Amino acid sequence: MAKKNISILGSTGSIGVNALKVCSNLRNDFKVRYISGYNNYRLLAAQAKLYKPDFVVTSDTNYMNVKKRLKGFKSVILCGDEGLKRAAQDDKVSVVVNAIVGSFGLKPTVYAAEKGKNICLANKESLVMAGSVIKKIMKRTGSSIVPIDSEHSAMLQALNGEDRSTLEKIILTASGGPFRNRKGSLRNVTVQEALDHPNWSMGNKITIDSATLMNKGFELIEAVHLFDIPPSKIEIVIHPESIIHSMMQFIDGSVIAQMGLPDMKIPIQYALTHPGRTHLDQPRLDLAKISKMTFYKPDRKKFPALGLAEAAAKEGGTLPVVLNTVNEIMVYKFLDGKVKFTDIIKSVEKEMRDHRNKKEPSIEDIFELSGELWKKLN
Ligand code: NDP
Ligand code: MG
Repeated sequence: MAKKNISILGSTGSIGVNALKVCSNLRNDFKVRYISGYNNYRLLAAQAKLYKPDFVVTSDTNYMNVKKRLKGFKSVILCGDEGLKRAAQDDKVSVVVNAIVGSFGLKPTVYAAEKGKNICLANKESLVMAGSVIKKIMKRTGSSIVPIDSEHSAMLQALNGEDRSTLEKIILTASGGPFRNRKGSLRNVTVQEALDHPNWSMGNKITIDSATLMNKGFELIEAVHLFDIPPSKIEIVIHPESIIHSMMQFIDGSVIAQMGLPDMKIPIQYALTHPGRTHLDQPRLDLAKISKMTFYKPDRKKFPALGLAEAAAKEGGTLPVVLNTVNEIMVYKFLDGKVKFTDIIKSVEKEMRDHRNKKEPSIEDIFELSGELWKKLN
């Protein structure tokens, strides 16, 4: 069978680097045609030398930096939004991995959906902000989304071969983040403490989202869109060992779980080989060594992000755009030392309270609102 051409957007990030490793493992089936990075031009150029993609996309500012480093190499260098659009829409590309972080990932998802691509989606923020709009586009163009997020990959795997109408409930597991056992106020936790995730090694933004549990709130909204299920039928359970990545409960009371060591290469590769599987040379789960798994309900007072995300999921419209955008702005402010940890979710709550929800926004409405919030809060 001919190799499939693949674009890896955000190849210089935590997911992107793993996606390239997975592509090496699947080199008989995939040819990396595009890679993209933003600030990290050194790594992007190094990846280009190693993986030899046909195209390399960077930011406008880093165009010359990448060009200089790739002198004598065949890869064509593109930049900015136009470059990402080509990577997402190239006729020769059939699979687009979107591993760009945050709201900057939305446009490329829309570009790829418009062209009917198979999207392997790590950028959950796309679905949080514009899940309904993206699904409408996908219906029109025949595009599909396979999740890379480990929880949603678990859900998809647990659904394999099942009649979807027999799904009763999703049990979405969460590690609980670095502060799950911390007593007292989280106001004065440091950036370093918040970045110290117990089980997963990830980019800074999602690591902070995991510390506030906003990441779990986003994943709830992501599941609503991916599996067409109301938020009331998704239960969030803290599972500190991060071995069960999520579970599906069916109408006969059966619960199917997917397990594995916390390694993103597994869900990334599954997204590329779904519904089949390919050998992956990684350490295996040893249950006797893990010896026990624990589960408990999240503390919603300590982690108000969960309630806010549930409200946004229930209301829909532009409220999830506010949830996502304000969170993102405040996370970067926290990382820059400009606000306290608890200010992140306080600001999200305030802006959601003040927001007049528009029920069926267009994609333009969503970009406009997001842009206004960036201006207002910066
Ligand atoms: P990283 O911060 O590690 O990587 C982000 C990537 O996006 C980098 O390639 C970065 O380029 C690029 N990027 C940043 N800003 C822009 C921009 N304005 N335009 C274009 N590209 C940009 O993030 P992660 O890999 O951790 O996460 C990526 C996505 O995957 C997020 O949506 C996250 O929620 C999701 N995800 C991540 C998981 C993980 O384990 N990390 C697990 C599940 C989901 P550069 O570095 O060159 O600036
Ligand atoms: Mg996840």
